[in-house]
Amino acid sequence: MKINFSLSLKITLIVIIVSATLIFSIAYINIGWQRSFFKDDYRERAYSLQKTLDAGIKSIDGLNNTEQLQIFIEEANYTNIDLLKLSISLFDKDDEELKVVASSDLDEIGHLSSVYSIISYENSTQKEEVDIIILQEHEKPYTITVVRPVNLSGQIVGTYEMIFSMDKTYAILDAHSSYLLLISITSLFVLIFLFLFLLRRVIVRPVMVFRDAAKKVAKGNLNTEVNISSHDELGELASAFNQMTIDLKTSRDKIKRYSKTLEKLLKQKDEFIGQLGHDLKNPLQPLVGLIPLIRDKEKDPKLKEHLGLIVNNVEYMRDLIFETLELARLRSSDIKFNIKNINLLETINSVLEKQKMFLKEHNVTTENLVKEEINVMADQLRLEELFHNLITNAVKYTPKEKGVISIDANKEKDFVTVSIKDNGVGMTKEQADRIFDEFYMVDESRRRTDSSGLGLPISKRIVEKHGGKIWVESPGPGKGSIFFFTLRTGKANKDI
Ligand code: ADP
Repeated sequence: MKINFSLSLKITLIVIIVSATLIFSIAYINIGWQRSFFKDDYRERAYSLQKTLDAGIKSIDGLNNTEQLQIFIEEANYTNIDLLKLSISLFDKDDEELKVVASSDLDEIGHLSSVYSIISYENSTQKEEVDIIILQEHEKPYTITVVRPVNLSGQIVGTYEMIFSMDKTYAILDAHSSYLLLISITSLFVLIFLFLFLLRRVIVRPVMVFRDAAKKVAKGNLNTEVNISSHDELGELASAFNQMTIDLKTSRDKIKRYSKTLEKLLKQKDEFIGQLGHDLKNPLQPLVGLIPLIRDKEKDPKLKEHLGLIVNNVEYMRDLIFETLELARLRSSDIKFNIKNINLLETINSVLEKQKMFLKEHNVTTENLVKEEINVMADQLRLEELFHNLITNAVKYTPKEKGVISIDANKEKDFVTVSIKDNGVGMTKEQADRIFDEFYMVDESRRRTDSSGLGLPISKRIVEKHGGKIWVESPGPGKGSIFFFTLRTGKANKDI
């Protein structure tokens, strides 16, 4: 299934994603910043505790008094309620190890110091004083461990290791986070609402104006105008759109004028041809009747031959005039066809029967492959005329020896496609495109007395008046041609 996302929905989705990312990143950075602030706060507290202890111990001798140290530790524990542990480690020269000498965790006294203390001590004796701060922030109890070297009059002798509980701080942080989340979500909603409001005003509404205008133009209303006067891209688009409709209107009016003129000219041409046909038909009639009689009576063979030539030419003129008038008649809108359900096979057989002598004269064999059950909707006389034209052409343009014409029909649901195939002179693609034009002949230089160049235009008109199409296909000159035309399918015999 294809989902249609509207423009505003797409933009809204983008805005939601962008603003959510932005707001939540700000909140995240804020929480991180608060954490580092708390970290610094504990470091300061560790420093001040160290100073208090330094002040109490005073000298190296003070360090030897472990009982006193233990008292300092208890005092420190008392004044710093979140101090979980405080240990003092000194370097034992005999064992060459850092050992806990005093601690709020009594079990640790006399034991080796923690890794952090050892690292801090070793680094501080070698280079400079090193603090180590370790946060345990992912599981309870949340703690911060601060390790500082014991520096008595410039001499590093051991470490203070302080562990503070951060439970309270984290509780505050969590409360802050929830609060921040609430603010973030609220501002997200406000932002989206504001954006949608602006989006509708600034983009969606003008786009809808364009959409409606474009729909009107598509329906042909070229007086449509888009009224957006903002000084931005949309304003420019609106004036370009308006200019486009004006240009379209001008071109359409021009085309209308041209086609009217063309229609008028075509009508004049048809009228002229029709009139000429009528005017020539009348004086020609007596000639067609009389000249053959004169020729038959003439004794002088030379003159008889000339008169024979005249008879041929007069008959050619008569046929030409007949076909010109036929075409003019087919063009007129008053011509009515008597459309009936017709059996195709019978019609073709009847035409072939009528042309039997002509086919025999030209030594052409025919095969009728049309199936008996095919019926078409057509005017009987016009359909016969159509077959007559196409079969005559197939014979005319096929060499006398071994000419074969085969007629077939293919029935589809609504249309029957009839084909008339010959193995004659064939034609090029360019010729195939033109042979339905009036007076067109492929070989102009070899005009024949039995050709008018009107047979195919008449055939085309007949087919089109039936609501069908006609066309020709040829593999090339010398390779024969196939003429196709379509007619509406008739009722099946059992339905009649
Ligand atoms: P014409 O009276 O000259 O036959 P048509 O309109 O019937 O006039 O045909 C136009 C031209 O098309 C012909 O002059 C011929 O060159 C070509 N043509 C028609 N039928 C065939 C065919 N079966 N094979 C080859 N060429 C053909």
